[in-house]
Amino acid sequence: MKLSLEAYENIVGPSVIQQLCRLGEKLKDTRVVHINSTREGGGVAEILMWMVPLMQDIGIDTCWEVIKGNTEFFTITKSIHNGLQGEPVVIKKKDWDTYFEINAQNFQELKEILTEADIVVIHDPQPAPLLSLCPERKGKWIWRAHIDISHPFRPVWKALKPFVEKFDASIFSMNQFAQPLPHDQFLVAPSIDPLSDKNIELTPLELESVRAEYDLDLQRPLLVQISRFDRFKDPIGVIQAYRLVRKIIPAQLVLAGGGASDDPEGKEVMEEVLEAAENDPDIHILLLPPNAHRTINALQRLADIIIQKSTKEGFGLTVTEGLWKGKPVIGGDVGGIQRQVIDNHTGFLVNTPEGAAHWIRFLLHHPGRMKEMGKTAQEFVRENFLLTRHLREYLTLILFLLRKGKTHTILV
Ligand code: UDP
Repeated sequence: MKLSLEAYENIVGPSVIQQLCRLGEKLKDTRVVHINSTREGGGVAEILMWMVPLMQDIGIDTCWEVIKGNTEFFTITKSIHNGLQGEPVVIKKKDWDTYFEINAQNFQELKEILTEADIVVIHDPQPAPLLSLCPERKGKWIWRAHIDISHPFRPVWKALKPFVEKFDASIFSMNQFAQPLPHDQFLVAPSIDPLSDKNIELTPLELESVRAEYDLDLQRPLLVQISRFDRFKDPIGVIQAYRLVRKIIPAQLVLAGGGASDDPEGKEVMEEVLEAAENDPDIHILLLPPNAHRTINALQRLADIIIQKSTKEGFGLTVTEGLWKGKPVIGGDVGGIQRQVIDNHTGFLVNTPEGAAHWIRFLLHHPGRMKEMGKTAQEFVRENFLLTRHLREYLTLILFLLRKGKTHTILV
């Protein structure tokens, strides 16, 4: 489907759309390339799915390329990812060599497009070495980190930093993630597309069909966490919290998530989760296909409370999605979740399963409060975390980089 900006006018108002069109005119025919490591699964793919067509719609010559790699490569890049999020991982010299070598192979395929582009946006660490491989580049290169690198495991950051410092700018989702780097660093929060299958309003009929498919009982409270099966998402902690709630309230829990092609750890983590669930018929562990957007949408809408009990989180689009659906979110007190879950307004931040259970019980005992928080949550997302704000910040940043050092003023 070709996305058009006009479709969002009813949600964000005409002036927001006009401003984006004006920015688009200033960037007409600019060649922008986004590079990441998976076309589906995870927040980056979710964002690029709307961002690329919308940038095209306003006249920017935008494309999205995905680097290829084998299991060895993605096991190494998952270790780099985990290391950047603070885990003391072991990455040997030969692993870093493989990481570089696979990037070099990808560069051969992408050489022309990367050399000619006016702007290249490299998402996350997997494709970060491409810049070092492109000495003839014409454009400006941005490193966009989507993960929580506030306290990286030092040896990993030390090895990655030489690739990152060559960029012209980097973008982070939180102030705390900024690093000592020799270029400009920008703060841009991610966002959701309110008209995508993941977030659009669904009919009662569609909600009922998902309810029936997974045998959920709407007479009893439903807690939902949607996440890749990743230890930083703390699915085991969610089960512990659910068990504490269950001592008092007959709640049900859905833990739903598929894999991402650049995340080889998912299967192992899912097995740990299945074991922890001990065949409890009220814990629904769902392995969803990558295109299960409407199912996830329905599960979030059927939920009474959304949980995202991460112990590290770059931003947490699942939090945004839950808030947008008018649900309070119980979120881990980390990273980008802190930007979205405002204690006692849009949900509660927690550090332990006990804390999560406490606030889940509080909300379930105060349905009026829960409803009120849900309304605040949706307005909070409308103001801060919809794609139009995100697009405006990207376009302004691109204009800034292209005109840096020139005397133009950027008026939008
Ligand atoms: N998601 C999905 N299928 C899944 C699990 C997650 O489509 O099985 C989506 C989820 O709805 C959200 C994104 O993937 O849009 C996850 O983004 P988030 O920032 O929460 O976490 P990440 O996976 O990027 O760490």
